[in-house]
Amino acid sequence: MNLKVTLLGTGTSHGVPMIGCDCAVCRSTDPRDRRSRPSLLIETGGAPAPFGDAVGSILVDTSTDLRAQALARDVRRVDAILFTHSHADHVLGLDEVRRFNALQRGPIACYGDARTLGDLRRMFDYIFTPPPVAGGGIPQLSPFTILGPFVLGGLEVVPVPLLHGPRPVLGFRVGTFAYLTDCSRIPDASWPLLQGVRTLVLDALRDRPHPTHFSVAEALAVVDRLRPERTYFTHIAHDLPHAATCARLPDGVDLAYDGQVLEGL
Ligand SMILES: [Zn+2]
Ligand SMILES: [Zn+2]
Ligand SMILES: [Zn+2]
Repeated sequence: MNLKVTLLGTGTSHGVPMIGCDCAVCRSTDPRDRRSRPSLLIETGGAPAPFGDAVGSILVDTSTDLRAQALARDVRRVDAILFTHSHADHVLGLDEVRRFNALQRGPIACYGDARTLGDLRRMFDYIFTPPPVAGGGIPQLSPFTILGPFVLGGLEVVPVPLLHGPRPVLGFRVGTFAYLTDCSRIPDASWPLLQGVRTLVLDALRDRPHPTHFSVAEALAVVDRLRPERTYFTHIAHDLPHAATCARLPDGVDLAYDGQVLEGL
């Protein structure tokens, strides 16, 4: 396996800078302090077939900032979409995928748990119950309910049940890479699913505790238990300046930043 992961967005739901905030991070000129809404792209390295079931490019969540992220990182192909959950910051860019439908001339498979797909049907009624004449075009999606591990283009995708406050959401593991955004607890049954993960992208909102997200200290406790080779914290609020925070984190642990590429996974 030779995965390439591009962190498209590493910010919390408001994004950084936040509207109307004059704090040092929101006013920072370090590009790593500019954080769009959370999403990432997994590329398998294999050339995707224009037709058939080859999967080369898997998008995780369709963030509010999807269009800007796709333009910034020159994303030209999305073969499948995995949804972690249906919170606004993770799904409100769904309309943008119609551009990929047009480029690829076909529907895009999307995967989520039953609650997430139900929420998407309600929130995006015009996509799932399309009007007879759809002006500028609407996304064409083939939804699949995640019931357990599944194979996408030869890759095994392992859903990792997490708790985001009281709400069950999904993280995803592919090979030795795992993406655990939006979580405040890893249930006992999910730890074995994460054994052997070498590269981890993990929620760490800020230093102060939060009811639905890991704090930096809580995320470091997860790192201590899992011991991945590399960990990148994501879903970051404006409380954490990139350079100063990375300087105080242990070896092998850093804040992620938008546009960061992880290769050779
Ligand atoms: Zn979120
Ligand atoms: Zn701020
Ligand atoms: Zn959330």
